[in-house]
Amino acid sequence: QYRSGSQIREDFLRFFEGKGHRRIHSSSLVPHNDPTLLFANAGMNQFKDVFLGSDVRTYSRATTSQKCVRAGGKHNDLENVGFTRRHHTFFEMLGNFSFGDYFKKDAIAFAWELLTSPDWFGIDKDKLYVTIFEGDAQTPRDDEAEQFWIEAGVPKSRIYELGAKDNFWQMGETGPCGPCSEIYYDLGLAASETGEDKPFGEDDQRYMEIWNLVFMQFDRHITPGGLPELTPLPKPSIDTGMGLERISCVLQGKLSNYQSDLFVPLIDAAIRLTGFSAMNAEEGSVSDAKGAASLRIIADHARAATFLIADGIQPANEGRGYVLRKILRRGIRHGRLLGQDQPFMHEMVHAVVAEMKVAYPELLDAEDRVAKTVLQEEQQFARTLQLGLARMTNEVLQDGAQAFSLYETFGMPLDFMTDAARDAGIEFDMVGFERAKEEEQKRARASWKGGSQKTASPAFASLDKTDFVGYTGLRADSAEV
Ligand code: ATP
Ligand code: MG
Ligand code: MG
Ligand code: MG
Repeated sequence: QYRSGSQIREDFLRFFEGKGHRRIHSSSLVPHNDPTLLFANAGMNQFKDVFLGSDVRTYSRATTSQKCVRAGGKHNDLENVGFTRRHHTFFEMLGNFSFGDYFKKDAIAFAWELLTSPDWFGIDKDKLYVTIFEGDAQTPRDDEAEQFWIEAGVPKSRIYELGAKDNFWQMGETGPCGPCSEIYYDLGLAASETGEDKPFGEDDQRYMEIWNLVFMQFDRHITPGGLPELTPLPKPSIDTGMGLERISCVLQGKLSNYQSDLFVPLIDAAIRLTGFSAMNAEEGSVSDAKGAASLRIIADHARAATFLIADGIQPANEGRGYVLRKILRRGIRHGRLLGQDQPFMHEMVHAVVAEMKVAYPELLDAEDRVAKTVLQEEQQFARTLQLGLARMTNEVLQDGAQAFSLYETFGMPLDFMTDAARDAGIEFDMVGFERAKEEEQKRARASWKGGSQKTASPAFASLDKTDFVGYTGLRADSAEV
């Protein structure tokens, strides 16, 4: 049974409304209550104060489809995009939340019912795996979760244990925390990394994480002796997140999020606007695989840029605006790789709005403004490239510090420079470039400290700790652009 991404979003929200949840609209991508958070990156962000107990709502159960961007900060998937089947910079996170109301047993039962009931998503149980927290020095193994999964109908053989990296969640060094339980879907051998029939846990491409259930059940505090201690929360809470693009991929029987109906129209638009197609790829300067990755990057980055600008971000040289600028320029750069050196990203904006305006009506009012902003950035980047290209001498390429300054000040993409060095038969000073970049990142981190001590959430504070999961198998070429 075919379901569109829009129907899946709606079914999710309706399912949880039927379980007594209040449907709440996504919050802005710009967090209003957390200066240390770069962009909204999970459904729970807008409820952070409710979980902390400093905000009270009239409802104790909520469900949302939250706009998320993971392109900087604690979660950074920017460099994965185009090279894995499941990562985007912008994505929608479907979630259900309990504020001291139901807990683990119901959260597990709800998730399993929605995924497997023939009245809802009807996924074949034999394709699903679940994980539970294996326990560590501070926290016991999550036997409860295992028991509830078994009661829900999951055979023990399909339940795996994972460590704290994947299956323990904390809001910060102190505060609410607890074990997670994830649900994975087996995309099948066709999606495998190596073509070998590997079991769960040994093939990152084949087994795709679709849903994460967080059980907030402890409060971490520091004892007078200075040691961390976990005590049970009086009212444990639930926070879950499922990527709409991933569940759409699954329910539409595809191997990649980018083959779902949430992306196909955008990839088509990118093909139309760049003139690239797999047909002429071999004759052109880019290979088929590289070109396809560029198309995915353009489609992804057009969504991120459109939603970020609609939510009030402007391209800039620092902070949030810098991340937006990086995303836009990366998209433009991939258009150039496909042979398009005229402005085209602003046209992508209209394609994104056409797909998303029903679910996110705020896009309609913003459409013209967003397209204009993107066009201006495209024009400015074209000028920048012209200026930068003139300064890109052999001497600059052989001196990493100077090359970095060209990259930083003029936005000259690294690939442009390494290509030029190769053409000129000289060696690009990558070591010096990396050194200069690291120093700059240290400075940037220091300047983004504002307010971090005021929040309970140091986990959100670091700007460039990346969450790189690698892109084995699908990697088309250099990820650095
Ligand atoms: P992964 O391990 O695949 O990177 P994650 O564990 O980082 O995912 P969570 O932080 O648990 O993801 O987020 C909850 C859900 O949101 C995930 O199970 C997934 O469905 C979705 N999700 C997370 N990151 C992305 C992304 N970059 N693009 C699309 N969906 C995502
Ligand atoms: Mg994960
Ligand atoms: Mg996860
Ligand atoms: Mg991740």
